Amino acid sequence: MTGTGEAHAPGARGPEGTIPLAVPNIGELERRYVLEAVESGFVSSVGPFVSEFERRFAERVGSKHAIACATGTAAIHVGLLLLGVERGDDVVCSDFTFVGSVNPIAYCGARPVLVDSETTTWNLDPALLAAELDRRATAGEAQPKVVEIVHVLGQPADMEPLMDACDRHGIPVLEDAAESLGATWSTGRYAGRHTGTVGRIGAFSFNGNKIATTGGGGMIVTDDDDLAARARHLTTQAKVPDVGYLHDEVGYNYRLTNIAAGLGLAQLERLDEFVAAKHRIAARYDAAFADLPLVLPPRVDGLEATYWLYSVLVPEGDGRGRDDFLAHLQARGVGARALWRPLHAQPPFITAPVLAGAVGDGLFARGLSLPCATELTDTDQQRVTEAVRSFFA
Ligand SMILES: *Cc1c(COP(=O)(O)O)cnc(C)c1O
Repeated sequence: MTGTGEAHAPGARGPEGTIPLAVPNIGELERRYVLEAVESGFVSSVGPFVSEFERRFAERVGSKHAIACATGTAAIHVGLLLLGVERGDDVVCSDFTFVGSVNPIAYCGARPVLVDSETTTWNLDPALLAAELDRRATAGEAQPKVVEIVHVLGQPADMEPLMDACDRHGIPVLEDAAESLGATWSTGRYAGRHTGTVGRIGAFSFNGNKIATTGGGGMIVTDDDDLAARARHLTTQAKVPDVGYLHDEVGYNYRLTNIAAGLGLAQLERLDEFVAAKHRIAARYDAAFADLPLVLPPRVDGLEATYWLYSVLVPEGDGRGRDDFLAHLQARGVGARALWRPLHAQPPFITAPVLAGAVGDGLFARGLSLPCATELTDTDQQRVTEAVRSFFA
């Protein structure tokens, strides 16, 4: 039991019949492609499923290039290297996110500068970012090498003011779209664009609990031909093609395997189905909780979220907190889970500069995610709803 439910077979229940938070949705198509990969003998990172998965992924999100990686963390790491991040640089990152967003900054020997969320999208606050970049410019201080923008829980960030601030100071943006595959902007400058395709580089994850999975895996997307070529080079041990064992720099063994890509291709073909399921589950929860004193997930015009993990905030000041709510749900067989502890409170990043932090602290103190596996049955969702309502009865 991992706590994410990802170790369970599809639709399986956790201990004591607990409704899992999220489980992968693996069907016939996945079995067929994985078997085909195994039987073809192309089991490692050279093989037709890898290139087909990359081609179809790029087409799906609307980027020119896609480079499949071993994990989402590896995709972010390489993305930062592509943008020139080196020892001693600053890299701005959301404070309220999973640790996989920020560990790669440390791998580069760079220093994360953690920026709090805003309450509308729960993502990096554009006003805080703009103020910090403007302040550095005025003070003549070095600017961050990269601004990493995370779209948490499948919710697109408010991208226009974020991009304006970065463009004004000439700072490249890396989007951590690990949780937001399928999410888009529908109005304004980026209407029709997918998360991950607005910055210079986007990174996705196909870990077991993400909306589409390869078991473990990730993807780098970019429209830049040179960056794409360099991404392929760095993820394959910096091997120079057609020359016997020549490696022209320190590279990484970061490619996705053909077996994993077979799984990924099948999941990609079913992505619309998964997004539709997440929307259906979110709409039902929204309706069922409308009269409760819970804060429901962001709904922002023009930002088309996927509700990857449907998450709510318990009310402030009713004497009971998030942990009481969690215990109440768990006692009723509901596999809910707390939102992340912000990075500024994580031991490895405790000394990182933080810009504000109260919003992320509040999301952690009050937030939890409810079961929202794409195969969640109506009966199970009803059980979750009743367990939630009974906490407020
Ligand atoms: C899952 C995740 C990652 C890391 O992806 P892995 O594939 O698990 O390495 C990075 N950032 C965010 C926001 C994530 O949710």
